[in-house]
Amino acid sequence: MLTKKNLIFLGAPGAGKGTISNIMIAKYGVAHISTGDILRAEVAKGTPAGKEAAVIMKAGKLVPDELVCSMVKTRLAEPDCANGFILDGFPRTIPQADRLDAVLAELGTKIDCAVYLKVEDSELIERLTARLNCRGCDAIYNKRFMPPKVEGICDKCKSELFQRADDSLETAQNRLSVFHQQTQPLIDYYEKRGLLYTCKNTDKDAIAAELAGILE
Ligand code: ADP
Ligand code: ZN
Repeated sequence: MLTKKNLIFLGAPGAGKGTISNIMIAKYGVAHISTGDILRAEVAKGTPAGKEAAVIMKAGKLVPDELVCSMVKTRLAEPDCANGFILDGFPRTIPQADRLDAVLAELGTKIDCAVYLKVEDSELIERLTARLNCRGCDAIYNKRFMPPKVEGICDKCKSELFQRADDSLETAQNRLSVFHQQTQPLIDYYEKRGLLYTCKNTDKDAIAAELAGILE
C-alpha cells in the first residue's frame, strides 16, 4: 500500500518515467496518466487534437498547455484515480502545474510527492535513440540496456516493437533542450513546497526499491 499515493514523475525524456510507472502500477494498482500516451492515442485516432499535436510532437516541442490540461482534467475525474495516480510527463510547465493544483482542489485532493528521476544528458540521448516500444502493450525496451529476448518482439505480448518518431537523434536533442528550458523550473517549484523527492538511484529496480521506502 502506498501512503503517498498521488504522484508526479518529473524527469527529462528518457529518464525512466514510463518504465518506473509500469513497475509501480503493477505493484500498487495506482492509475497511470501519461500525457504522451494519451496524445499518441489521439494522433493514432486522427482526432482534431491529434492532428494538431502530431506536428508539434514530431518537432520535439510541447503541445499547448490548454490541450493537455483539459485531457488530464478529464482523466483525473475517472474513478480509478481515487486509488492514487502517477502523472507521467505532466505537468511540464509552470502554468500546467498551477492548473493541476486547481483541478485537484476541485476534486478535493492534492499531490503527495513529486518524484524527480535525475539522469545526465549524455546518458539520456543514448537511452532515447536506442529505445523500443511495443505496439500491443505498454512495455518499453532498449536495444542496448534492456533488450527483448527475441529481437523486435515484445517478451510480454509478442507484438512488434517500434521506434517512436520523436526518438530520432535530432528530435531527442530538441526534447532535452525543451526539458531544460520549460520543465526544469518545476523542480524548484515543488522543492519550495516541500513536495520534491530526488531519486538517488538510476537503475529501474533500485529506484523501485528506493521509492517503496519513501512512499509506502
Ligand atoms: P518523453 O518524456 O520521453 O519526452 P512523452 O511521451 O511524455 O515522452 O511525450 C512525448 C511528446 O508529447 C512531448 O515531446 C510533447 O510534444 C508531448 N507532450 C507530452 N506531455 C506533454 C505536456 N504535459 N505538455 C506539453 N506537451 C506534452
Ligand atoms: Zn507488448
